[in-house]
Amino acid sequence: MIRLAVISGKGGTGKTMVTAALSHLLDGSMVLADCDVDAANLELLMSPRLIRTDPFMGMKSAVIDPSICVPCGECKVHCRFDAVDVQDGSYQINPLRCEGCAVCTYVCPAAAVSMQPRQTGEIMYSESARGHLVHARLVPGAGNSGLLVHAVKKTAMEHDQDCDLFLIDGPPGTGCPLISTISGMDIVLIVTEPSISGLHDLKRVVAVCRQFRPRILVAINRFDLELSFTERIQCWCDEEKIPMIGQIPFDPAVIESVRRGVPVTDSSATPAAQAIQILAAILEQELIVLGKKW
Ligand code: SF4
Ligand code: SF4
Repeated sequence: MIRLAVISGKGGTGKTMVTAALSHLLDGSMVLADCDVDAANLELLMSPRLIRTDPFMGMKSAVIDPSICVPCGECKVHCRFDAVDVQDGSYQINPLRCEGCAVCTYVCPAAAVSMQPRQTGEIMYSESARGHLVHARLVPGAGNSGLLVHAVKKTAMEHDQDCDLFLIDGPPGTGCPLISTISGMDIVLIVTEPSISGLHDLKRVVAVCRQFRPRILVAINRFDLELSFTERIQCWCDEEKIPMIGQIPFDPAVIESVRRGVPVTDSSATPAAQAIQILAAILEQELIVLGKKW
């Protein structure tokens, strides 16, 4: 199995659009994962049929047993995250603020606090036209999206390890979810845009990716909106010896395909679809060069 993640240094670059189109164009069996768990939307372009939903238990958080609580207030004094509320003299943990450090369990003189597992999201296992799709949803306000990304990947690997390709729609940015996504990947395709922030965030995400040593490739979406920046990004990629394998033009057909809930390559004649077809052909060569089963 070859593991390929489509990522971006910033949101709104068209990463999910490219992922959906690649799932449409690349040969072989595949399993897909949407690791952008804070704003999962690959399903909007894949029309999956839900097979199963499993709860995701994040880090444990503190719970006070009111029947044992004295109440002395020591937990509130020592909680550095301001996660202990007092209402009418009764002490309660705010689960959205609790960071699970367990300090309150040590300072409580009555042993009234315990650490309990808490559901912070759910993982969905679905079927799409291009293979199984694993996607997830975080409870609003819940953290630990890096842990949830890890759980999404693990679900896909456990259930579909015989597929030729593991294709991931990754999160934007360079934080914990991104690190969890690119860990263990063979290739990352970074989708950027021709702007000052596009170039800046590209540099940052490349620096993070290099710690994990995958093959790094770049594509520019809407490259024709600011050709001077496209040129700057191309020059930087050349200097860094990072192959630029795609330049996708601005194309209203992309918006129309999102509205219809299908990959933009569903209609092969549009400028964006044609550019992604070229990108996919180059990418397929990269996958073959990796020398794994394909
Ligand atoms: S576990 Fe830590 S963060 Fe949570 S309430 Fe206790 S002291 Fe505060
Ligand atoms: S430290 Fe223990 S006994 Fe004191 S208020 Fe907190 S939970 Fe209650």
